[in-house]
Amino acid sequence: MKDTFAELGLGQELLTELASLGYEEPTPIQKAAIPPLVEGRDILGQAATGTGKTAAFALPILERVGRDRPAPLRPLALVLVPTRELAVQVSEAFHRYGKTMGAEVVPIYGGQDFFRQANALRRGAHVVVATPGRALDHLRRQSLDFSDLRIVALDEADEMLDMGFAEDLELILEAMPESRQTALFSATLPPRIASIAERHLRDPERILIPRDAATKGSLPKVRQTAYIVPRAHKVTALGRVLDLESPTLAVVFCRTRVEVDELADRLGGRGYRVASLHGGMSQQERDRVMAKARAGTVDLLVATDVAARGIDIEHLTHVVNFDVPSSPEAYVHRIGRTGRAGREGVAITLVDPRGHRLLRNIEQVTKQKIAISTVPTPLDVKARRLDVTKGALREALLAGELDRYRVVVETLAAEFDPMDVAAAAVRLAHEASEGESAEDDVHIPAIDGFRQPGPPQGAPPRGWGAPPQARGPRPPQDDDRFHAPRRHEQRDMVRVYIGAGTRMGMRPADLVGAISNEADINPRAIGGIEIAEMFSIVELPARDVDHVIRALRGATLRGRKVKVNRDLGFRNPPPPPR
Ligand code: AMP
Repeated sequence: MKDTFAELGLGQELLTELASLGYEEPTPIQKAAIPPLVEGRDILGQAATGTGKTAAFALPILERVGRDRPAPLRPLALVLVPTRELAVQVSEAFHRYGKTMGAEVVPIYGGQDFFRQANALRRGAHVVVATPGRALDHLRRQSLDFSDLRIVALDEADEMLDMGFAEDLELILEAMPESRQTALFSATLPPRIASIAERHLRDPERILIPRDAATKGSLPKVRQTAYIVPRAHKVTALGRVLDLESPTLAVVFCRTRVEVDELADRLGGRGYRVASLHGGMSQQERDRVMAKARAGTVDLLVATDVAARGIDIEHLTHVVNFDVPSSPEAYVHRIGRTGRAGREGVAITLVDPRGHRLLRNIEQVTKQKIAISTVPTPLDVKARRLDVTKGALREALLAGELDRYRVVVETLAAEFDPMDVAAAAVRLAHEASEGESAEDDVHIPAIDGFRQPGPPQGAPPRGWGAPPQARGPRPPQDDDRFHAPRRHEQRDMVRVYIGAGTRMGMRPADLVGAISNEADINPRAIGGIEIAEMFSIVELPARDVDHVIRALRGATLRGRKVKVNRDLGFRNPPPPPR
């Protein structure tokens, strides 16, 4: 197998460009598709978004542009894509890879001014990236000329058919020179695609994803979870997930060197001890990083596949895929790093909304389910942090040697309730260790429509002790109110006692969710929340209290009815119900 871009037959110009983008090695679809395309053969490739298929056809096309280097009069290559969004994305990819060679790329799609596009075409283009309908319009009005066309790529062909472009595709393909080369990519290969391939491809090289790769039996005990997150929120989401998971040591995999460095920087900013590992580092530098990881002085290793090859660390607890890996094999290989020695490992995968097919492929190949989970809210994270503070306090209590501080408590207790004195001390300890990031309060939209468990919008389930992902849409995340004693006392707030606490697994997010769903109260109206072992106290606007109490009394919490009352006194919380 050819393992480097150079071995695939790409020229120096592109190799330099790829190196500067931080690409370390070709993905499986690139390894399979680039050599035949460079040689001039047709291909029929099964590949979903996220496998690196854009580069799989863009690089050979650009190689051709570079080799022939024609003045960009009539297009040498046409790429057909189903949507305007993809047309823009694919054009950007061509620009990125073909920058130094000066490739002219023109995107044309519906919804944009026709004559502006026609002018751009007239000025000349090496590559045109188009949606079928608009390509056909230009062809008919003769602003698109196929006489020099040498290669056509159909991207996401199944989707183009689903969108009703079958006829347009036929007409476009018919209008092209017979001698041209054709690359057809499709996530699935239904008979309609086979029929197009039959009629328009010449002796194509078939690149199919093996349905049942040889990965059986090789998966260790690993808890696998995926989070569907829009690209813009990935770092914030990952920060929260890591905060909640508290890995002893995690490897976070990225696609490129450039991404490794960026992500390492940002995670470092969240207070993690981070080290990068990529193919651009010398062996000595890599050894140094590995030594640190083994010594436990690093929490996160941010790495590319190439650099992480051969990593073998006993206490690696988590493997994180910042993007879905480009093939099921790569996934299996990555997560095999954790869960060693019979211990349970954790694999976390962030998926952008378009990447769901890849996740399915992985599930099919590994024959294991990957649970889809909801990104933790800032409330979840804060609750977890408070748990950590509580653990630290417990340790301090067990360690003793508190005499020096007892005097302070005694003095203050003459003036304040000892419970309040303790609470204030907890607050100071907690705030001192928090190291929060401004990003924490960002609202990350939940992505619906992809096996996202839970009810449809607007129909929250009855019973409010369900795990967070089974609840309705999450309330807006405003968590300034959480836990810390309220900074501003509000005269019209009333405290409500709820007979369930941490022992029942209560978390602030559960209470906020329950109150907002059951009583239809805006989460922002909810005041401070305190959760003790056996009970919780929630501050609510006086005008809503009776309504909320009634609503919660009618609901169940983890299958149980719980006691809900006006609180009789915050300083002396009522005893747990019998
Ligand atoms: P695609 O499947 O074409 O949508 O590509 C998915 C992502 O992978 C894009 O962000 C590409 O920039 C990136 N990518 C493609 N090929 C490689 C590679 N060989 N190494 C690293 N990243 C890549």
